[in-house]
Amino acid sequence: MEFQKLVEILNELEKTSSGNAMREILAEFLVKVPVDDIAVVCYLILGQISSEYEAVVLGIADKSVLKSVAIAAGVELGKAQKIMQETGDVGLTAERVLQKKTQTLIPVGKLTLHELFDKLHKIAALTGTGSQEAKSNMLISLLQKASPSGAKYVARMALGTLRLGAGDMTLLDALSMAYTNDKKNKALLEHAYNICPDMGIIAETLAKKGLKGIEKIDIHVGRPIKMMLCQRVDELEEIEDKIPGKKAVEAKYDGERVQAHKDLKGKITLFSRRLENITLQFPDLVQELDTQVSAKEFIMEGEIIAIDKEGQHLPFQTLMQRRRKYDVKQYVKDIPIQVKLFDLLFWNGKSFLLLPYEQRMERLAKIVRKSKHVTLADKIVTEDVEELNEFFQQMLTEKYEGIIVKSLTGEYQAGTRGWNWIKWKKDYVQDLADTFDLVIVGAYHGQGRRSGTYGALLCAAYNEKEDVFETVCKLGTGLTDEVLAELPKKLSKYKVNQRPVRLKVKKEMEPEVWFEPKIVVEVLGAELTKSPFHTCGSGLALRFPRFLQFRENKKAEQATTSKEIEKMYGMK
Ligand code: ATP
Repeated sequence: MEFQKLVEILNELEKTSSGNAMREILAEFLVKVPVDDIAVVCYLILGQISSEYEAVVLGIADKSVLKSVAIAAGVELGKAQKIMQETGDVGLTAERVLQKKTQTLIPVGKLTLHELFDKLHKIAALTGTGSQEAKSNMLISLLQKASPSGAKYVARMALGTLRLGAGDMTLLDALSMAYTNDKKNKALLEHAYNICPDMGIIAETLAKKGLKGIEKIDIHVGRPIKMMLCQRVDELEEIEDKIPGKKAVEAKYDGERVQAHKDLKGKITLFSRRLENITLQFPDLVQELDTQVSAKEFIMEGEIIAIDKEGQHLPFQTLMQRRRKYDVKQYVKDIPIQVKLFDLLFWNGKSFLLLPYEQRMERLAKIVRKSKHVTLADKIVTEDVEELNEFFQQMLTEKYEGIIVKSLTGEYQAGTRGWNWIKWKKDYVQDLADTFDLVIVGAYHGQGRRSGTYGALLCAAYNEKEDVFETVCKLGTGLTDEVLAELPKKLSKYKVNQRPVRLKVKKEMEPEVWFEPKIVVEVLGAELTKSPFHTCGSGLALRFPRFLQFRENKKAEQATTSKEIEKMYGMK
């Protein structure tokens, strides 16, 4: 397929401000895409060149992109820079300068989708000395071979800012409409996507083998599974309604969730909560799992916490220092860790997802030989609410976050916030205000001490049903000087010229700067109230919000949902 065909649709999507229209345009287009191109098309629509967990990045320095654009068009860099200043977007700059490129620069032939995709992967694979120049040369040839509007998207891809606003869920909707003529089948696609979070595989399987193929998609060791999450309750007694009788009660550790995979070749891969590959950060954990777990193959989950020399656990902030690419060896020495294993998803060729918790745990306990660095989550099994509460209090004295109550018969619900796991945290009992994980979608310029940075941020919750973001507060309190200084840089990549398609916002709240929903922050709120100015749920606003921290380990779609906020409001 020619790249230009996709470009026409991308242009159309860019002009669309409604999620439903977007789904329809996509569905109509996807059904016409040759099956061998569908995977590539889906990755590109999401602004990626691989599955999200493989995270293949082009690695072109930001300043070389504009330089390449200028060279491709045969114009002075200064001219490109001037247009860049006017448009604020490298894509529009590329489109404009390339419209005027001299005929002699036009290469023969048209850019196909596969040529583009192959070249982008080649660019990504180049490393070492001279690689920046080689990357840039390849980019120049792509820019020249594309049409001016095609170059707009190529330049944005190179900079990592190709954002059409189509999220995974919107694309699954569109795929379902395109290939099954029924949006309802999205549930089946979503289920498969939870086990195989690779949009290319999902789209290609659906296009080639239909829903039968989708139903057969199974676990593949080395490919992450979307993680199961917890529900919350507002009264301890409510847990009994949801999980009656005997239940497991585990400590809730405040560390980093890890999903560890071991394949038949003995290779161990670690994934974070966001499904990023974090294997290189934790060579010590890889080694421990290798020696302490007896299994040819496994997928297991646990929480990594930092410990001191005596094995006492240390706060989350200490562990965060292990998030690094460099000096890993030194940090392994300085900040030892321990993993508290709490689930087994796959073992020696067999999926454990549908097995009850009890059976998964039984096997987990059998195959793990405990050590200082690898152990199982602390837990009790009880049906007595008093005993449950006692365990909870004990966990607080150990300085853990609280407890997670788990159904003994519950299966592992990949990618789902189900009732088989219920969290109960110290914030709930100490009657502190709730914390929310919200997505930054806009900002207002700062004044006085805050000039040059942002004075306040517009924050939103996630509406998972509609796959949109709904505003819930304007956040200006709690931003330290350090955070304020960091904000413009952190957010600049996600700046967009207009309201992101998946954002619902009232006129009164429109910010001065828009951001693609990407960055998640933890916010403490005092109260939820009805508000005509916000779009969260039935129109709810968070009063007196205070910034606590960035939630680097969360994607925008993992933010607090509007439904959760609605529920909290209903309970007040
Ligand atoms: P919070 O903001 O309260 O940490 P969250 O939104 O990050 O919650 P939840 O689904 O509410 O995620 O809580 C589950 C998280 O708790 C897991 O992602 C995991 O990192 C952590 N955790 C700690 N101990 C356990 C445990 N024993 N079992 C499962 N998850 C645990």
